Amino acid sequence: MLELNDVSHVYANGTRALDHVTLSIPRGMYGLLGPNGAGKSTLMRTIATLQTPSEGAIRFGEIDVIAEPEKLRRTLGYLPQDFGVYPRVSAYDMLDHMAVLKGVASKSDRKAIVESLLGQTNLWSVRKKALAGFSGGMRQRFGIAQALIGNPELIIVDEPTAGLDPEERNRFLNLLAEIGENVVVILSTHIVEDVSDLCPRMAVIADGRIRLEGAPAELIART
Ligand code: ADP
Ligand code: ADP
Repeated sequence: MLELNDVSHVYANGTRALDHVTLSIPRGMYGLLGPNGAGKSTLMRTIATLQTPSEGAIRFGEIDVIAEPEKLRRTLGYLPQDFGVYPRVSAYDMLDHMAVLKGVASKSDRKAIVESLLGQTNLWSVRKKALAGFSGGMRQRFGIAQALIGNPELIIVDEPTAGLDPEERNRFLNLLAEIGENVVVILSTHIVEDVSDLCPRMAVIADGRIRLEGAPAELIART
């Protein structure tokens, strides 16, 4: 369970991007829906410990996220909105390298992890291909593979379906739903269908404030 309590963020220029956000996010897929500029990326980066909120508390299980960001990072998988890849490196080599950075020292352990992730994300057939040649869908699936190194219990994906065609989008969302059976997955998006199809619970954010929270069917019935 991820708990945000009265989290606010004001940028240096005075923009209040988060305004008293309080949320309890259970295991499974959780949708954060809102228009551009609503505060989704700010919230995602804040949960991912890339920025510290001006006010408020965040807990993930036993972890006080603001006081102990390094503890959260050990159990976090993050796919940022502007996920960039090293173009000349192959998918296999990049995942292997990232596993080294995550502290997996043994070559045979890394082989097992990387092969399993390439299979799970359906990238085995293109494992030797340079990342520059990947389609949008392949790139996002690679983004999930890298986010899953180290068996994270909290996974954050920020606007992952932008630019994907319908088939790639479905494949990507089904992959997330599979992952979400065991861990907390937060999916931010401005597309209603991304959350209504797959997320048992969701929040709607606008102008930095949580406007609605609940099961998608209930929320859609109410509006
Ligand atoms: P979303 O991800 O929903 O599009 P953001 O979190 O990116 O929303 O932005 C929320 C608000 O904060 C917007 O008004 C945006 O212009 C502003 N904002 C985002 N980043 C910064 C920043 N680094 N400095 C100042 N304002 C920012
Ligand atoms: P995978 O086999 O990794 O699941 P798919 O075969 O489903 O990937 O293809 C997903 C997208 O990537 C399609 O647009 C496909 O044309 C493209 N693609 C797949 N393999 C390659 C490749 N070796 N070189 C270039 N594009 C590829």
